[in-house]
Amino acid sequence: MLLRVSACGVCRTDLHVLDGELTEPKLPLVLGHEIVGRVAGTGPGVTGFAEGQRIGVPWLGWTCGACRFCVTGRENLCDDARFTGYHLDGGYAEYAVADARYCFRIPDGLGDVEVAPLLCAGLIGYRSLMLAGDGERLGIYGFGAAAHIVAQVARYQGRQVYAFTRPGDEQAQRFARALGAVWAGSSHEAPPEPLDAAIIFAPAGALVPAALRATVKGGVVVCGGIHMSDIPAFPYSILWGERGVRSVANLTRRDGEEFLALAPRVPVRTETETQPLVEANTALTRLRAGDVRGALVLVP
Ligand SMILES: [Zn+2]
Ligand SMILES: [Zn+2]
Repeated sequence: MLLRVSACGVCRTDLHVLDGELTEPKLPLVLGHEIVGRVAGTGPGVTGFAEGQRIGVPWLGWTCGACRFCVTGRENLCDDARFTGYHLDGGYAEYAVADARYCFRIPDGLGDVEVAPLLCAGLIGYRSLMLAGDGERLGIYGFGAAAHIVAQVARYQGRQVYAFTRPGDEQAQRFARALGAVWAGSSHEAPPEPLDAAIIFAPAGALVPAALRATVKGGVVVCGGIHMSDIPAFPYSILWGERGVRSVANLTRRDGEEFLALAPRVPVRTETETQPLVEANTALTRLRAGDVRGALVLVP
């Protein structure tokens, strides 16, 4: 399916691809996996989409449908999965081509730019939140694009959000409080109450023992990023008590359908800043420096 791109979010994963931390990109490659566009043409076999219809293209771009993961509802773990903006050309472009079976219809009510961050930050955030269990006190480490969406969903579910940022990042802490976090502070600090679960979005392995220390017995620490620096050694005592550490990998189409149905009910409001497509490199540099509030979105 051919689409005319109207917006494409900038995700930290794009930096991991650009920097070679994800080692198997298609080259040359067009980055970008939070694509919002309009159908501009369909190939043979495409059903259910009409020209001009608004659609979203996420990170999960293709799966084999036959491996043991695909046949058990875990296509996010497919051995041969192909990902948008990594194995397949993505959305830092005016036009893109996507496999219609992995595209989403997008609910009305949000503009193209506001929807774009839902397609990765929102989806991965949602999957991370589900895997964090249903504890009331939720810690979020790294308060960027994914966190600002997850915080809204968590509050909608009646949870308390504790936001951890880089030390001294007052702006991110204010942003977290504005989104309803009951506490916001530095990732070096202990929260005022122990956490039932924590999600780590920042790619810093040192946060894993920090989050374990802040989490109660039976709680889980979820690592939501695709790449993380090494996790330092830590004493078994902070894992003891049936605490768990797990990662979140990719998304399934079912995650996408569930989350895109939930988002308007919350309703999730994304904080976005646009940059013209020609300034994609500047956008990536700003993301690297942490100089972004909410999510950056490129507009052709
Ligand atoms: Zn992403
Ligand atoms: Zn498969």
